[in-house]
Amino acid sequence: MGLLIVGSVGLDTVETPFDKVENALGGSATYTSLAASYFTAPINFVGIVGEDFEQKHINILEEHDINLDGLEIVNGGKTFRWGGKYHYDLNVRDTLFTELNVFEHFDPKIPEKWTRNKFLLLGNIQPSLQMRVLKQMTNPEFIVCDTMNLWINTTRHELLDVLKNVNVLIINDSEARLLTKEPNLIKAARMIQELGPEYLIIKKGEHGAILFGDNMVFSAPAYPLENIYDPTGAGDAFAGGFTGYLHKSRDLSFENLKRAVIYGSTMASFCVEQFSTKGLEDLSRLKIHDRFLEFMELSRFDDDRN
Ligand code: AMP
Repeated sequence: MGLLIVGSVGLDTVETPFDKVENALGGSATYTSLAASYFTAPINFVGIVGEDFEQKHINILEEHDINLDGLEIVNGGKTFRWGGKYHYDLNVRDTLFTELNVFEHFDPKIPEKWTRNKFLLLGNIQPSLQMRVLKQMTNPEFIVCDTMNLWINTTRHELLDVLKNVNVLIINDSEARLLTKEPNLIKAARMIQELGPEYLIIKKGEHGAILFGDNMVFSAPAYPLENIYDPTGAGDAFAGGFTGYLHKSRDLSFENLKRAVIYGSTMASFCVEQFSTKGLEDLSRLKIHDRFLEFMELSRFDDDRN
């Protein structure tokens, strides 16, 4: 059975200290699906675009065997657009504009044949839309959810309702603090787990990620990249790699979740090496596995008494 992915599909205008791109392929469903496509199939994609969404973008998704039966194309509509600017500290991003366009009236409809999918990745979109997706699913067994500061600030109650239903929440450190109003990340993690998610992953930008389980913690290193061109989509690529790997392996033990976190980090590291989705377009399983092994080396050490 397939991995259902729901999220935004957009055209991004992104400025970093090194370059600028306009109307590049982006969106949470786009990045997560591309990242997941290297691990598993089929990827069942649900999103919405306008008629200005170019065929070349559809081709990129189709070339990765992503099933687009759930992509709604609105006649006469305009695709979601987002603009962001990064500072020299690439962890700091300003949102320059958000044009919802067709997203404003998005009512995600899960094709009947996909409502029995067991694995579900709720990419970053409005929590009320995530909830509408959940209500259409027959009996999902493993739900991974991503969100952002905007929803924590503006639709907290809806987000809290979603969190009651998910198995894994993936957020970054500042979002974890914002959600709990607790500066200490370990305490914040415990508070978030009490809201519903069995597992929580807190990403710390270029400083790695922490996985929290039932009294278990795993700290993943960050890959020491010399060239980071565009951090856009790193969080989504992480979520896609993490969920895609778990969907393929069907092993939900904490040990395997740790591997999934490293695969998520691996996909995020490839994503940021190039602008837009480029870093996720021409990978191979071998390349991904090699970097996974490099991640293992990064934090391997011995006890000097052995
Ligand atoms: P990330 O860098 O992982 O946080 O994700 C960046 C992607 O999120 C971009 O490609 C944007 O198109 C998308 N995005 C930005 N704002 C929103 C929003 N309010 N709702 C849904 N997707 C968004």
